[in-house]
Amino acid sequence: MTQAESFIRHVIKKQEIGHAYLLESAAPGQALREMRLAARLIACEKGNGCGECPSCRALASGNHPDIISIQKAKEAYSVQEIRTQLVGDMGIKPYRFPRKIYMIPEAEKLSALCQNVLLKTLEEPPSYGVILLAAANRHAFLPTVLSRLVCLSADEGEDAPQKEEGASPEAFYDFLNGLRQAYAADCLAIPDQLAAQGISPEEQLRLWEKSLQMIYTAKGGGPLPAEEFLRKKLWKDLASRLSDRQLKDLWEDLQLVKSRLRSYMKANQVLGLFMIHMRDALLESEEK
Ligand SMILES: [Zn+2]
Repeated sequence: MTQAESFIRHVIKKQEIGHAYLLESAAPGQALREMRLAARLIACEKGNGCGECPSCRALASGNHPDIISIQKAKEAYSVQEIRTQLVGDMGIKPYRFPRKIYMIPEAEKLSALCQNVLLKTLEEPPSYGVILLAAANRHAFLPTVLSRLVCLSADEGEDAPQKEEGASPEAFYDFLNGLRQAYAADCLAIPDQLAAQGISPEEQLRLWEKSLQMIYTAKGGGPLPAEEFLRKKLWKDLASRLSDRQLKDLWEDLQLVKSRLRSYMKANQVLGLFMIHMRDALLESEEK
């Protein structure tokens, strides 16, 4: 059983079904399968996908009025599609069943604009609303959106392909941990040092994105992914030091870094400057 399935079964049992779940798997079709399973379990009157209750039967007939799969006409979702099929539709009460469940397949194809349109619904869903997203990668999402989602791995436990992440990122987290005490000049040198330890600028960028997302998640009080358990203290500490505005600025800054990394040669300098911004933000909040 995948983490996603066992988690969903658990919340159904506890009668604590949340409003938004992201099912993540890089394996083709896997996140989609798990999303459909989650919808079936949540909608089932017995909570186990019994196959016999009215909800399960409606689903089997392909005609469940309260499980809606968002459709896209092109490769990516359009804002209009998200508005009409989800945001607007969510305001209409379920036709027949207690919950209305929306499924978004290939949710990594939601642009930042679409995600922003979705955000308000994620923040204040009606009591009957559940949104399920299937995506290859949670890093496709804005941290504001991600902080509203419970992220679940849709990969089968033992057989899950381990992502090759190159060198151990621990050196990066060590620097992040001590960043407040670093001098600006040191910040500029850190990306080079990390690169020398096998953490490429691209990987550093990825780790920065992930870090900001974890800080957002910690700030929103959302559950951190299981693999981040050991770093929980770091994320909570950083979340307590940075304001929403600072985090937003840093995120935008990081997007600039990303675009510059593509065009500049001196990747490490760009990353070093970002480190200074992050450090300054941490010091600024300390002065208050
Ligand atoms: Zn059933």
